[in-house]
Amino acid sequence: MERYTALPFENIPFMHWGIINKYNFDPEKIKFIPRKRWDPLTSVEIKLFNEISREFIPIGKRRGHFSYISPVRGLRPTQIKTDIKKRPDVFKNIIEGKDYAIFISTENKNLDSPFSTHPIMMEIEDAKSVTIINRFPAMVRYIEEEIEPIIRKKVETDPFTKIAYGINLVTFPVNYAETLSDIHFQDLVEMIKSLNNAIEYSVNEAKKRKITLIPVYPFFNIGYLAGGSQPRLHAQVYIDLNMDGHGPFMESILQSFEEQRKRGICHLCTSRHTDRIVYENNTWLIWATSSPRRNFHLRLATKRHIERITDLDNNEIEGLADALIISSKALDAVGISADRNVIIYSNPYGYSSYFHLFIDILPFEKLGGIELLDSTRVARYSPRDVAEELRKTIKQTRHNS
Ligand SMILES: [Zn+2]
Repeated sequence: MERYTALPFENIPFMHWGIINKYNFDPEKIKFIPRKRWDPLTSVEIKLFNEISREFIPIGKRRGHFSYISPVRGLRPTQIKTDIKKRPDVFKNIIEGKDYAIFISTENKNLDSPFSTHPIMMEIEDAKSVTIINRFPAMVRYIEEEIEPIIRKKVETDPFTKIAYGINLVTFPVNYAETLSDIHFQDLVEMIKSLNNAIEYSVNEAKKRKITLIPVYPFFNIGYLAGGSQPRLHAQVYIDLNMDGHGPFMESILQSFEEQRKRGICHLCTSRHTDRIVYENNTWLIWATSSPRRNFHLRLATKRHIERITDLDNNEIEGLADALIISSKALDAVGISADRNVIIYSNPYGYSSYFHLFIDILPFEKLGGIELLDSTRVARYSPRDVAEELRKTIKQTRHNS
Protein backbone atom coordinates (compact mmCIF):
# COMPACT_ATOMS: atom_id res chain seq x y z
CA MET A 1 0.00 0.00 0.00
CA GLU A 2 2.33 2.74 -1.19
CA ARG A 3 1.60 4.55 -4.43
CA TYR A 4 -1.36 6.87 -4.07
CA THR A 5 -3.11 9.98 -5.43
CA ALA A 6 -4.11 12.70 -2.94
CA LEU A 7 -7.24 14.85 -3.09
CA PRO A 8 -6.15 18.51 -2.67
CA PHE A 9 -7.41 20.09 0.57
CA GLU A 10 -9.20 22.88 -1.33
CA ASN A 11 -11.17 20.32 -3.40
CA ILE A 12 -12.71 18.44 -0.47
CA PRO A 13 -16.51 18.88 -0.64
CA PHE A 14 -18.30 20.34 2.40
CA MET A 15 -18.46 17.87 5.35
CA HIS A 16 -17.06 14.94 3.38
CA TRP A 17 -15.01 12.90 5.91
CA GLY A 18 -16.25 15.43 8.51
CA ILE A 19 -14.05 18.20 7.08
CA ILE A 20 -15.09 21.86 7.05
CA ASN A 21 -12.51 24.29 5.67
CA LYS A 22 -12.51 27.80 4.27
CA TYR A 23 -12.75 26.43 0.73
CA ASN A 24 -15.91 24.38 1.23
CA PHE A 25 -17.69 26.57 3.79
CA ASP A 26 -19.91 29.57 3.15
CA PRO A 27 -22.53 31.16 5.48
CA GLU A 28 -25.36 29.42 3.57
CA LYS A 29 -24.03 26.12 4.91
CA ILE A 30 -24.64 26.96 8.60
CA LYS A 31 -27.86 24.93 8.56
CA PHE A 32 -25.91 21.87 7.37
CA ILE A 33 -23.38 21.91 10.23
CA PRO A 34 -23.90 18.68 12.27
CA ARG A 35 -25.36 19.44 15.67
CA LYS A 36 -25.54 17.49 18.88
CA ARG A 37 -28.77 18.50 20.54
CA TRP A 38 -29.75 17.50 24.08
CA ASP A 39 -33.49 17.14 24.63
CA PRO A 40 -34.36 19.67 27.39
CA LEU A 41 -37.28 17.44 28.52
CA THR A 42 -35.39 14.16 28.86
CA SER A 43 -31.83 15.09 29.81
CA VAL A 44 -30.32 16.52 33.00
CA GLU A 45 -26.97 17.88 34.15
CA ILE A 46 -24.62 15.36 35.73
CA LYS A 47 -23.80 16.51 39.28
CA LEU A 48 -21.07 15.00 41.40
CA PHE A 49 -20.95 15.16 45.19
CA ASN A 50 -18.22 17.46 46.48
CA GLU A 51 -16.87 16.20 49.82
CA ILE A 52 -15.62 19.62 50.92
CA SER A 53 -18.66 21.77 50.17
CA ARG A 54 -21.04 18.82 50.89
CA GLU A 55 -23.00 19.76 47.77
CA PHE A 56 -23.79 18.28 44.38
CA ILE A 57 -21.85 20.31 41.80
CA PRO A 58 -22.69 20.29 38.03
CA ILE A 59 -19.66 19.20 35.95
CA GLY A 60 -20.72 20.68 32.60
CA LYS A 61 -22.01 17.36 31.29
CA ARG A 62 -25.46 15.90 30.72
CA ARG A 63 -27.11 12.50 30.70
CA GLY A 64 -30.26 11.68 28.81
CA HIS A 65 -31.60 11.82 25.28
CA PHE A 66 -29.71 13.66 22.56
CA SER A 67 -29.75 13.65 18.74
CA TYR A 68 -27.02 14.05 16.16
CA ILE A 69 -28.48 16.13 13.32
CA SER A 70 -26.34 15.76 10.21
CA PRO A 71 -27.86 16.64 6.82
CA VAL A 72 -24.71 15.34 5.05
CA ARG A 73 -25.86 11.79 5.95
CA GLY A 74 -28.54 12.28 3.30
CA LEU A 75 -25.83 12.42 0.61
CA ARG A 76 -24.80 8.79 1.21
CA PRO A 77 -25.02 6.61 -1.89
CA THR A 78 -28.34 5.02 -1.10
CA GLN A 79 -30.75 2.56 -2.58
CA ILE A 80 -34.13 3.95 -1.66
CA LYS A 81 -35.01 4.46 -5.32
CA THR A 82 -33.05 1.52 -6.70
CA ASP A 83 -33.42 -2.23 -6.54
CA ILE A 84 -31.90 -3.54 -3.31
CA LYS A 85 -30.21 -6.31 -5.31
CA LYS A 86 -28.37 -3.73 -7.43
CA ARG A 87 -26.90 -1.67 -4.60
CA PRO A 88 -23.53 -0.16 -5.50
CA ASP A 89 -20.59 -1.38 -3.40
CA VAL A 90 -18.60 1.79 -2.62
CA PHE A 91 -15.93 -0.22 -0.82
CA LYS A 92 -14.97 -2.05 -4.04
CA ASN A 93 -13.75 1.18 -5.66
CA ILE A 94 -11.83 2.11 -2.51
CA ILE A 95 -10.14 -1.32 -2.40
CA GLU A 96 -9.18 -1.03 -6.08
CA GLY A 97 -7.75 2.48 -5.63
CA LYS A 98 -10.50 4.10 -7.74
CA ASP A 99 -12.09 6.26 -5.03
CA TYR A 100 -10.81 8.49 -2.25
CA ALA A 101 -10.65 7.42 1.39
CA ILE A 102 -8.84 8.29 4.60
CA PHE A 103 -7.25 5.01 5.71
CA ILE A 104 -6.82 4.60 9.48
CA SER A 105 -5.76 1.01 10.09
CA THR A 106 -5.51 -2.54 8.84
CA GLU A 107 -5.50 -5.66 11.01
CA ASN A 108 -1.82 -5.27 11.81
CA LYS A 109 -0.89 -1.62 11.45
CA ASN A 110 -1.96 1.98 11.84
CA LEU A 111 -2.04 4.18 8.73
CA ASP A 112 -3.13 7.85 8.55
CA SER A 113 -4.07 9.84 11.64
CA PRO A 114 -7.75 9.67 12.65
CA PHE A 115 -7.62 13.49 12.37
CA SER A 116 -6.14 13.42 8.85
CA THR A 117 -7.49 15.85 6.25
CA HIS A 118 -5.84 14.06 3.31
CA PRO A 119 -8.11 11.68 1.40
CA ILE A 120 -6.15 9.46 -0.99
CA MET A 121 -6.75 6.86 -3.69
CA MET A 122 -4.66 3.79 -2.98
CA GLU A 123 -4.91 0.18 -4.06
CA ILE A 124 -5.18 -2.16 -1.07
CA GLU A 125 -2.76 -4.99 -1.65
CA ASP A 126 -1.68 -6.62 1.56
CA ALA A 127 -4.58 -6.34 4.01
CA LYS A 128 -7.64 -8.50 4.75
CA SER A 129 -9.54 -5.67 6.41
CA VAL A 130 -9.34 -1.89 6.46
CA THR A 131 -10.80 0.86 8.63
CA ILE A 132 -11.50 4.22 7.02
CA ILE A 133 -13.10 7.51 8.04
CA ASN A 134 -16.81 7.58 7.19
CA ARG A 135 -17.19 9.85 4.17
CA PHE A 136 -20.71 10.96 5.24
CA PRO A 137 -20.44 11.18 9.01
CA ALA A 138 -22.85 12.29 11.72
CA MET A 139 -20.17 14.49 13.30
CA VAL A 140 -17.59 17.11 12.36
CA ARG A 141 -14.01 15.87 12.63
CA TYR A 142 -12.12 18.96 11.52
CA ILE A 143 -12.99 22.67 11.29
CA GLU A 144 -10.34 25.05 10.02
CA GLU A 145 -9.27 27.29 12.87
CA GLU A 146 -10.03 30.65 11.26
CA ILE A 147 -13.72 29.86 10.59
CA GLU A 148 -14.44 27.83 13.74
CA PRO A 149 -15.49 30.78 16.03
CA ILE A 150 -17.98 32.11 13.43
CA ILE A 151 -19.56 28.68 13.04
CA ARG A 152 -19.67 28.04 16.77
CA LYS A 153 -21.40 31.37 17.42
CA LYS A 154 -24.08 30.66 14.79
CA VAL A 155 -24.74 27.04 15.88
CA GLU A 156 -24.43 27.12 19.67
CA THR A 157 -27.31 29.52 20.30
CA ASP A 158 -28.79 27.72 23.33
CA PRO A 159 -27.33 25.63 26.16
CA PHE A 160 -28.64 22.37 24.64
CA THR A 161 -27.11 22.67 21.16
CA LYS A 162 -23.50 22.34 20.07
CA ILE A 163 -21.47 21.42 17.01
CA ALA A 164 -21.38 17.59 16.94
CA TYR A 165 -17.68 16.82 17.16
CA GLY A 166 -16.33 13.30 16.73
CA ILE A 167 -14.84 10.54 14.59
CA ASN A 168 -16.97 8.10 12.57
CA LEU A 169 -15.12 4.98 11.42
CA VAL A 170 -16.07 2.22 8.99
CA THR A 171 -14.38 -1.20 8.91
CA PHE A 172 -14.88 -3.60 6.01
CA PRO A 173 -13.39 -6.88 4.75
CA VAL A 174 -11.39 -6.90 1.51
CA ASN A 175 -12.94 -10.26 0.50
CA TYR A 176 -16.59 -9.62 -0.26
CA ALA A 177 -19.17 -10.79 2.29
CA GLU A 178 -22.63 -9.51 3.18
CA THR A 179 -23.48 -11.00 6.54
CA LEU A 180 -21.95 -12.63 9.60
CA SER A 181 -23.11 -15.95 8.11
CA ASP A 182 -21.20 -15.70 4.83
CA ILE A 183 -17.95 -14.03 5.96
CA HIS A 184 -14.94 -16.32 6.38
CA PHE A 185 -13.85 -16.80 9.97
CA GLN A 186 -10.34 -15.37 9.38
CA ASP A 187 -11.72 -12.30 7.57
CA LEU A 188 -13.96 -11.52 10.54
CA VAL A 189 -11.02 -11.96 12.92
CA GLU A 190 -9.04 -9.43 10.87
CA MET A 191 -12.03 -7.04 10.80
CA ILE A 192 -12.21 -7.01 14.61
CA LYS A 193 -8.44 -6.43 14.78
CA SER A 194 -8.57 -3.51 12.33
CA LEU A 195 -11.56 -2.03 14.19
CA ASN A 196 -9.75 -2.29 17.52
CA ASN A 197 -6.55 -0.76 16.11
CA ALA A 198 -8.56 2.17 14.76
CA ILE A 199 -10.40 2.74 18.06
CA GLU A 200 -7.18 2.71 20.07
CA TYR A 201 -5.43 4.95 17.57
CA SER A 202 -8.35 7.45 17.59
CA VAL A 203 -8.64 7.52 21.38
CA ASN A 204 -4.87 8.04 21.78
CA GLU A 205 -4.82 10.87 19.22
CA ALA A 206 -7.86 12.46 20.92
CA LYS A 207 -6.14 12.30 24.31
CA LYS A 208 -3.17 14.18 22.81
CA ARG A 209 -5.71 16.90 22.00
CA LYS A 210 -6.80 17.00 25.66
CA ILE A 211 -10.03 15.11 25.00
CA THR A 212 -10.13 12.71 27.92
CA LEU A 213 -13.71 11.42 28.34
CA ILE A 214 -14.71 9.50 25.23
CA PRO A 215 -17.85 7.40 24.73
CA VAL A 216 -17.15 4.92 21.91
CA TYR A 217 -20.04 3.12 20.19
CA PRO A 218 -19.06 0.25 17.84
CA PHE A 219 -21.80 -1.57 15.91
CA PHE A 220 -22.74 -3.52 12.78
CA ASN A 221 -25.85 -2.53 10.80
CA ILE A 222 -26.48 -5.64 8.73
CA GLY A 223 -29.04 -5.37 5.95
CA TYR A 224 -30.96 -2.43 4.57
CA LEU A 225 -33.79 -2.50 7.14
CA ALA A 226 -31.26 -2.44 9.99
CA GLY A 227 -29.72 0.76 8.62
CA GLY A 228 -26.95 -0.80 6.51
CA SER A 229 -26.69 1.57 3.54
CA GLN A 230 -24.00 -0.63 1.96
CA PRO A 231 -24.48 -4.28 0.94
CA ARG A 232 -20.92 -5.30 1.90
CA LEU A 233 -20.63 -6.30 5.57
CA HIS A 234 -19.14 -3.43 7.56
CA ALA A 235 -18.76 -2.31 11.15
CA GLN A 236 -18.97 1.31 12.27
CA VAL A 237 -17.75 3.21 15.30
CA TYR A 238 -19.10 6.51 16.61
CA ILE A 239 -16.45 8.18 18.75
CA ASP A 240 -18.04 11.15 20.53
CA LEU A 241 -15.46 13.87 21.24
CA ASN A 242 -17.82 16.47 22.72
CA MET A 243 -16.85 15.72 26.35
CA ASP A 244 -20.41 16.58 27.39
CA GLY A 245 -21.82 13.30 28.64
CA HIS A 246 -23.63 10.23 27.28
CA GLY A 247 -27.08 8.85 26.49
CA PRO A 248 -29.74 7.32 28.76
CA PHE A 249 -28.98 3.69 27.94
CA MET A 250 -25.28 4.09 28.71
CA GLU A 251 -26.22 5.93 31.90
CA SER A 252 -28.45 3.02 32.97
CA ILE A 253 -25.64 0.55 32.29
CA LEU A 254 -23.11 2.60 34.29
CA GLN A 255 -25.56 2.91 37.22
CA SER A 256 -26.31 -0.83 37.11
CA PHE A 257 -22.62 -1.75 37.22
CA GLU A 258 -22.12 0.75 40.06
CA GLU A 259 -24.88 -1.03 41.99
CA GLN A 260 -23.23 -4.40 41.27
CA ARG A 261 -19.87 -3.06 42.42
CA LYS A 262 -21.40 -1.95 45.72
CA ARG A 263 -22.88 -5.43 46.15
CA GLY A 264 -19.44 -6.89 45.46
CA ILE A 265 -20.42 -8.83 42.34
CA CYS A 266 -20.38 -8.58 38.56
CA HIS A 267 -23.60 -9.95 37.06
CA LEU A 268 -21.84 -11.05 33.86
CA CYS A 269 -19.11 -12.87 35.81
CA THR A 270 -21.53 -14.69 38.12
CA SER A 271 -24.79 -15.34 36.23
CA ARG A 272 -24.83 -18.69 34.42
CA HIS A 273 -28.04 -17.93 32.44
CA THR A 274 -28.78 -21.68 32.95
CA ASP A 275 -31.38 -22.86 30.42
CA ARG A 276 -31.08 -19.71 28.31
CA ILE A 277 -27.55 -20.51 27.11
CA VAL A 278 -27.35 -20.70 23.31
CA TYR A 279 -23.66 -21.42 22.76
CA GLU A 280 -20.30 -21.11 24.44
CA ASN A 281 -16.67 -21.43 23.45
CA ASN A 282 -13.48 -21.04 25.49
CA THR A 283 -13.77 -17.27 25.77
CA TRP A 284 -17.39 -16.21 25.14
CA LEU A 285 -20.91 -17.08 26.29
CA ILE A 286 -24.08 -16.41 24.23
CA TRP A 287 -27.53 -16.51 25.79
CA ALA A 288 -31.11 -15.43 25.10
CA THR A 289 -31.52 -12.45 27.38
CA SER A 290 -34.42 -12.65 29.84
CA SER A 291 -35.45 -9.03 29.12
CA PRO A 292 -35.39 -9.07 25.31
CA ARG A 293 -35.39 -5.77 23.41
CA ARG A 294 -36.39 -7.72 20.28
CA ASN A 295 -37.66 -11.23 19.74
CA PHE A 296 -34.58 -13.49 19.50
CA HIS A 297 -32.42 -10.81 21.19
CA LEU A 298 -29.12 -12.54 21.99
CA ARG A 299 -26.48 -11.27 24.38
CA LEU A 300 -22.76 -12.15 24.34
CA ALA A 301 -20.11 -11.52 26.96
CA THR A 302 -16.51 -12.51 27.49
CA LYS A 303 -15.84 -15.05 30.21
CA ARG A 304 -13.02 -12.81 31.42
CA HIS A 305 -13.98 -9.56 33.19
CA ILE A 306 -12.79 -6.92 30.71
CA GLU A 307 -14.14 -3.43 30.16
CA ARG A 308 -13.67 -2.68 26.49
CA ILE A 309 -13.64 -4.25 23.03
CA THR A 310 -10.02 -3.09 22.70
CA ASP A 311 -9.10 -5.21 25.77
CA LEU A 312 -9.73 -8.45 23.83
CA ASP A 313 -6.68 -10.69 23.40
CA ASN A 314 -6.15 -12.80 20.28
CA ASN A 315 -8.00 -15.82 21.69
CA GLU A 316 -10.96 -13.65 22.62
CA ILE A 317 -11.02 -12.01 19.17
CA GLU A 318 -11.13 -15.47 17.57
CA GLY A 319 -13.78 -16.54 20.10
CA LEU A 320 -15.89 -13.50 19.20
CA ALA A 321 -15.65 -14.20 15.46
CA ASP A 322 -16.70 -17.82 16.12
CA ALA A 323 -19.60 -16.77 18.37
CA LEU A 324 -20.89 -14.15 15.90
CA ILE A 325 -20.78 -16.56 12.96
CA ILE A 326 -22.39 -19.48 14.82
CA SER A 327 -25.21 -17.34 16.23
CA SER A 328 -25.83 -15.62 12.88
CA LYS A 329 -26.17 -18.98 11.10
CA ALA A 330 -28.45 -20.30 13.84
CA LEU A 331 -30.75 -17.24 13.58
CA ASP A 332 -30.85 -17.73 9.78
CA ALA A 333 -31.74 -21.39 10.21
CA VAL A 334 -34.78 -20.65 12.38
CA GLY A 335 -36.03 -18.05 9.92
CA ILE A 336 -35.23 -14.80 11.76
CA SER A 337 -34.89 -11.63 9.62
CA ALA A 338 -31.39 -11.33 8.14
CA ASP A 339 -31.48 -7.58 8.87
CA ARG A 340 -29.84 -7.23 12.26
CA ASN A 341 -27.94 -4.82 14.50
CA VAL A 342 -24.97 -5.96 16.52
CA ILE A 343 -24.19 -3.37 19.17
CA ILE A 344 -21.14 -3.38 21.39
CA TYR A 345 -21.14 -1.86 24.88
CA SER A 346 -17.70 -0.77 26.12
CA ASN A 347 -16.79 1.36 29.11
CA PRO A 348 -16.33 4.90 27.72
CA TYR A 349 -12.60 5.77 27.55
CA GLY A 350 -11.43 7.90 30.46
CA TYR A 351 -14.35 6.76 32.67
CA SER A 352 -13.29 4.88 35.79
CA SER A 353 -16.66 3.09 36.00
CA TYR A 354 -17.00 -0.59 36.88
CA PHE A 355 -17.88 -2.35 33.60
CA HIS A 356 -17.97 -5.71 31.82
CA LEU A 357 -17.94 -5.65 27.99
CA PHE A 358 -21.07 -7.09 26.37
CA ILE A 359 -22.70 -7.29 22.95
CA ASP A 360 -26.35 -7.37 21.89
CA ILE A 361 -27.58 -8.99 18.68
CA LEU A 362 -30.92 -7.42 17.74
CA PRO A 363 -32.88 -8.78 14.76
CA PHE A 364 -34.82 -6.06 12.90
CA GLU A 365 -38.45 -5.56 13.93
CA LYS A 366 -41.02 -2.83 13.58
CA LEU A 367 -41.54 -0.90 16.80
CA GLY A 368 -44.82 0.16 18.36
CA GLY A 369 -45.82 2.97 20.67
CA ILE A 370 -45.01 1.34 23.99
CA GLU A 371 -41.47 0.54 22.75
CA LEU A 372 -41.01 4.22 21.93
CA LEU A 373 -42.67 5.50 25.10
CA ASP A 374 -40.01 3.84 27.18
CA SER A 375 -37.04 1.50 26.96
CA THR A 376 -39.26 -1.56 26.77
CA ARG A 377 -40.42 -4.42 24.56
CA VAL A 378 -43.44 -6.66 24.37
CA ALA A 379 -41.75 -9.89 23.22
CA ARG A 380 -43.66 -12.83 21.78
CA TYR A 381 -41.21 -15.64 22.52
CA SER A 382 -39.99 -16.90 25.84
CA PRO A 383 -36.19 -16.56 26.04
CA ARG A 384 -36.03 -20.20 27.23
CA ASP A 385 -37.76 -21.38 24.03
CA VAL A 386 -35.52 -19.14 21.93
CA ALA A 387 -32.42 -20.66 23.51
CA GLU A 388 -33.69 -24.21 23.15
CA GLU A 389 -34.53 -23.75 19.47
CA LEU A 390 -31.14 -22.15 18.68
CA ARG A 391 -29.22 -24.78 20.67
CA LYS A 392 -30.94 -27.55 18.72
CA THR A 393 -30.15 -25.81 15.41
CA ILE A 394 -26.48 -25.34 16.29
CA LYS A 395 -26.18 -29.00 17.32
CA GLN A 396 -27.85 -30.09 14.09
CA THR A 397 -25.63 -27.88 11.90
CA ARG A 398 -22.48 -29.14 13.59
CA HIS A 399 -23.70 -32.72 13.23
CA ASN A 400 -24.24 -32.22 9.50
CA SER A 401 -20.93 -30.51 8.77
ZN1 LIG B 1 -17.49 -9.20 35.07
